[in-house]
Amino acid sequence: MAVSEETPAVIELDNVELSLGRGAARVHILKGVSLAIPQGQATGLVGPSGSGKSTLLMTMAGLERPDSGMVRVAGQDLGALGEDALALFRGRHIGIVFQSFHLVPTMTARENVALPLELAGADDAFERAAAELRNVGLGERMDHYPAQLSGGEQQRVAIARAVAPDPAILVADEPTGNLDESTGRSIVDLIFALRRERGATLVLVTHDLSLAASCDRTVRLRAGRIETETGTEALAI
Ligand code: ADP
Ligand code: MG
Repeated sequence: MAVSEETPAVIELDNVELSLGRGAARVHILKGVSLAIPQGQATGLVGPSGSGKSTLLMTMAGLERPDSGMVRVAGQDLGALGEDALALFRGRHIGIVFQSFHLVPTMTARENVALPLELAGADDAFERAAAELRNVGLGERMDHYPAQLSGGEQQRVAIARAVAPDPAILVADEPTGNLDESTGRSIVDLIFALRRERGATLVLVTHDLSLAASCDRTVRLRAGRIETETGTEALAI
């Protein structure tokens, strides 16, 4: 049974071409990528280093714009949005987790998590940030700055920040890449638990094939093209 036949795609890419860099350093990275990800699905994105995984993820998240082709997220054609509208759209619909956490170093954990809520206009941003931090096991670390937290704790803050606005889509780019194995496993468990709790669609870039296998589906990139897809029939939430 093909999930995509009955569940509407929340992320759709059609023939996406993307190059980055200038002049002689310009690199053609994504070469005609088409992909439909149904709502609620967990997709593992794998492939060799340099194959374009991060670029593809950032394109889905509206952080890179394709040269041609279409990217539609939650029914919205991202190419139709100007920069401000795109930033607003991202803040409301897409949570992003990076390998290197990307926390604001001059803000406490709680301020980092409150930031996207404030940008979305929430008047209870600080209360909600506290609840999100308790939910990821950091109730006692709220007023700490990133430099005062371990890598695993920083990634928990980043995850709390990503899910705080209740995005329909959660994308994570090698979220365990800077962590030791057991910390990495707890981070992955947390991402899957939150995603299940909130029914979010997850796209996870990973080197770890066992981790990819725990997704509903695996997409493999090679040299900017989708090489193989597996597991599209299994939507086990
Ligand atoms: P992956 O995440 O699979 O390792 P990336 O998406 O980061 O791959 O990069 C794909 C290719 O694009 C690599 O060859 C990389 O060097 C190149 N690349 C990435 N970003 C840029 C950039 N800003 N300018 C030029 N080339 C880039
Ligand atoms: Mg990458």
